Amino acid sequence: MSNQKKYCGSCRVRGAQGFTLLEMVIAVFIMSVMTAVVMPHLLSAGQQAQKSACEQNQRTIREALIEYKLIYHNYPTGEATQQLQELKDKKLLSTVPVDSEGGQYQIDTTTDPNEVTVTCTVHGMLGQ
Ligand SMILES: [Zn+2]
Repeated sequence: MSNQKKYCGSCRVRGAQGFTLLEMVIAVFIMSVMTAVVMPHLLSAGQQAQKSACEQNQRTIREALIEYKLIYHNYPTGEATQQLQELKDKKLLSTVPVDSEGGQYQIDTTTDPNEVTVTCTVHGMLGQ
């Protein structure tokens, strides 16, 4: 039984060495068609992943700001980068979130005193 398996295995190897040009052309053609079909899906999946990472960052920043206000009775002041740094300094953020596509996070605590909005310059406002 095992001898038979070995024999068949070597058969396949011998067959693999004997690809004709036509077979190679067909194989390359099939691979290029599959790549063309799969690549857009992979790219959009990557974009979707970056978007949901951004959404998670915005949620984290928002929650940290709410927590900061509960402790200090006011939001951190300054520009968004200063506010994020302040949240990190007060240990409400472990790291300053960075957008994977280079967006800047903008924090609005002034329009509505009961609501804080966080937006990304690339992805806009997500999940609020
Ligand atoms: Zn973003």
